[in-house]
Amino acid sequence: MRFQSAARAARSWCALAGLCLAALATAPAAADDSATTKPIDQPALVESLSYRQTDSGLTVRLDLSHPRDPQKTVLREPAKVYFDLRAARLRSDQTQSYPLSNKLVSAVRLGQFTDSPAVARLVFDLRTAAEVTVTQEDGGRTLLFKVGGGGGGTPVAPSPRQPATSITKSAMQAESAQSATLTLGVGASAAVKAFYLTQPDRVVMDVEGAALRAEPPTPAADGLVSAVHMTQFSPDVVRVTVDLRRPCGYAVTRGTGETNVALRLVSAEAKGRLVIIDPGHGGKDPGCSGYKPGLVEKTVVLDIGLRVQRILEAKGVRVSMTRADDTFIVLGDRPALANKLGADLFVSIHCNAMPDDMKGQRSGTELYYYTPQSPDFASVMLQAVSAEAKLPARGTHERAFVVVKGCSMPSVLVETGYLDHAGDGAMLDSPAGRETFARGIAAGVIRYLQARPPTMGTTAASNAPASRAENKG
Ligand SMILES: [Zn+2]
Repeated sequence: MRFQSAARAARSWCALAGLCLAALATAPAAADDSATTKPIDQPALVESLSYRQTDSGLTVRLDLSHPRDPQKTVLREPAKVYFDLRAARLRSDQTQSYPLSNKLVSAVRLGQFTDSPAVARLVFDLRTAAEVTVTQEDGGRTLLFKVGGGGGGTPVAPSPRQPATSITKSAMQAESAQSATLTLGVGASAAVKAFYLTQPDRVVMDVEGAALRAEPPTPAADGLVSAVHMTQFSPDVVRVTVDLRRPCGYAVTRGTGETNVALRLVSAEAKGRLVIIDPGHGGKDPGCSGYKPGLVEKTVVLDIGLRVQRILEAKGVRVSMTRADDTFIVLGDRPALANKLGADLFVSIHCNAMPDDMKGQRSGTELYYYTPQSPDFASVMLQAVSAEAKLPARGTHERAFVVVKGCSMPSVLVETGYLDHAGDGAMLDSPAGRETFARGIAAGVIRYLQARPPTMGTTAASNAPASRAENKG
């Protein structure tokens, strides 16, 4: 699905209906229909991989901290079968690769496909189009994958890891409505991994190689943190979950004293920061057309953009519009304005459409970005807009559009919905529907600004509440 869908997905872009074409600076990269941003469960841990093989059979065993259902995908050229484990994390960032001498399988690979949402992927590189089956044992915590009917019996799982140290202290420090620091006392051998989950907002920290010997601290009433939970998540992993009252950025630091892990949380004000809103097309460039005569993209996106401006300004965010009326603006002038003003964010607003032979057949929101500072912003926006509009989240896609490519700040192009689709189109045609899209865009902007405190610098930036690698791989 992932690979076969690329050509099809590219056709969905309004550019290929001949209308956004000027924005397309290079050939489209492979897009991904299946990439969506959804609320996820707390990720399970993949504890171990073990395997046994014969000449013509293979059995791979995965042991997980919590049950997960693998989703199977079969690819033909090259022959390959992979299984995605949603809401699952590996204990190492490195892909584990096992070359095999088997007649059917040349290699097995286990890697973290995406961080947010956390998806682990087990790949079977096949020498020939062989069937790969999976069965679940131990209530879904053990997964057995078999090729050629399996080989050499069931692999034995490694014995559970033992904690080498303990968490003996925990405390909340420097608490306010905007910031807080959680400190833990734990031996230096413990490795710490932190990540952000939304709906509700929380930071999760896995302390690996540690036993839990402390109670969670009680945060102050009305502070940034509403609750802290600590559990022995697996035999040697303590999971610390910090529930938040507002979106925030975070950074983990290691010290040498008794409280040697510090999780710093800072929520920024959206107020006073500058956002460029760029309604697409305009003047002689109408953009794509709708499901009924007379409905054109340039009019719809201008109205949505002006609504976004009103909502953001009411919350104290400063807004500059690239156009506030039906004017034609050269593409390159749009990012140039954002750079000249030193804006915090850039949002280009568009509507999508399918080519004539597939008119009206697709619905949903898509996000495009290009620069390295932008994929997290794209994920936050996709989630905010699709949730508010109650439309399918059709993924974030890397694409070299002039308007996002030229911006020095995080920049995205929002494809709100499909103007040629009866449902999406009717929404985009109505004042209430446009207001809904505008609310979603404004909500995404504010969430991102709050989670990106300028004072936290690059550490927080690399730890933002969103995806780093959603469309990679
Ligand atoms: Zn457009």
